[in-house]
Amino acid sequence: MDARCVRDALRRWGLAGVALTLIPGLTGASHRTANFVVEAPTPDVAKKVAEQAEICRSTIAKQWLGRDLPAWTTPCPIKVKITGGEAGGVTSFGFNRGKVSDQDMAVEGRLDRILASALPHEVTHTIFAAYFGGPMPRWADEGASLLSEDLRERQRHDQIAIDLLNRRGDFPLSRLFRMEEYPSDLMGFYGQGYSISRFLIEMGGRPRFLKFVKDGLNSGWDLATRTHYGLSDVRELDRAWHSWHKVASRGTANSDLVLVRAQSDSEPQE
Ligand SMILES: [Zn+2]
Repeated sequence: MDARCVRDALRRWGLAGVALTLIPGLTGASHRTANFVVEAPTPDVAKKVAEQAEICRSTIAKQWLGRDLPAWTTPCPIKVKITGGEAGGVTSFGFNRGKVSDQDMAVEGRLDRILASALPHEVTHTIFAAYFGGPMPRWADEGASLLSEDLRERQRHDQIAIDLLNRRGDFPLSRLFRMEEYPSDLMGFYGQGYSISRFLIEMGGRPRFLKFVKDGLNSGWDLATRTHYGLSDVRELDRAWHSWHKVASRGTANSDLVLVRAQSDSEPQE
């Protein structure tokens, strides 16, 4: 089987028309590390991005998988375009027989924003692709990758989630979990995916979140919700998320969250 998916953070900034093919003509230098080969306008930028990508790869893999990833046999190419604006990125993957068969990444924006936000986000997609060996549900892939971005971006997505819930624009989780394409309200989709990912991770940590998503995909979301979070089904999870969100958005402790934590403590720690 060969599947290809594109992860697209550029869309968040309304740059969906920027294609990977536009970028190579703008590059002028290359820097190679163990797992990345970066093309950028200058040697300094290429080196900074490659070294930061290696740091992100190791740090983020340990956060999510509890271990470093083995070295890739082929380095992941990263094309860098420096602009004066906010940062975004695209990573595309090919999968073959449950493994990543090829991957490539492009990032653009101001260098400081690329290093703090777009690059960690895109590298997180590569960690998830390696773990899943196939496309990860979009809400989880994007929502959890946002957790790797800097505080400014995380707070911005917290606010998007607050606005989304205030105008009752959120998807029922039973629908969100099954969405295979990006909806027209892309900002809301990223904000909701980020918020529910944050909620699940605060309840049970990152490795459990990945197991939940994998089991949800393979065995159904109600069963995965019971197994990993001690809640009866996705509807109950949806209610728990809403009540957590109400309190979390005010920045105070949440008794419902404590209850949910207690229920999920029956599962052994990863
Ligand atoms: Zn993304």
